[in-house]
Amino acid sequence: MDNTYSALKKRVREALLTEWAALFPTPGCNHHARPLSPRAFMGLGKFVAGRIHQNRAGKSYLAAHPTWRSPDADTSCLRCGLEPETFAHAILSCFSRQNSKSRLLHSVTDVCHEGPLWTSLPLLNRLTTFISATSMSFPPTMFPPTPPPSSPPLPLSSPSVPPPVFRVSSLAEV
Ligand SMILES: [Zn+2]
Repeated sequence: MDNTYSALKKRVREALLTEWAALFPTPGCNHHARPLSPRAFMGLGKFVAGRIHQNRAGKSYLAAHPTWRSPDADTSCLRCGLEPETFAHAILSCFSRQNSKSRLLHSVTDVCHEGPLWTSLPLLNRLTTFISATSMSFPPTMFPPTPPPSSPPLPLSSPSVPPPVFRVSSLAEV
């Protein structure tokens, strides 16, 4: 039996992965390998890293990632309506995001967990810009509700409503 440090380390890692899989089985929606070190994208900003992690896990705000609240919701892409809005569709083939895709991620052809996108810091930085530019899988609460198309546009100013008056009181008046 090889008892060198590297051989022992390898056996411990294999035992860890075996026990980890037995104790905490991977959900069916997650097809990524179990890492023993943080993914490179975890070094990005917290918000974007969260978006990426959720997208990779299949539990994001993309339409094709069902939630426990609405498991039977329509999975069509809200932007183009051509395909289910999966992570791959949102990055690779969504018509409405093609300008940002061709400008920022033109060399990315796959989002599989073994692809170069997840180990290349320049690509991850471009993905960060892409996510911010397209608001991909942002929480819906970050956007104000849009009025229905039939409602008239709101006037910029209404003469019947007086402007608000703000009174500033000093500490001496209190
Ligand atoms: Zn689309």
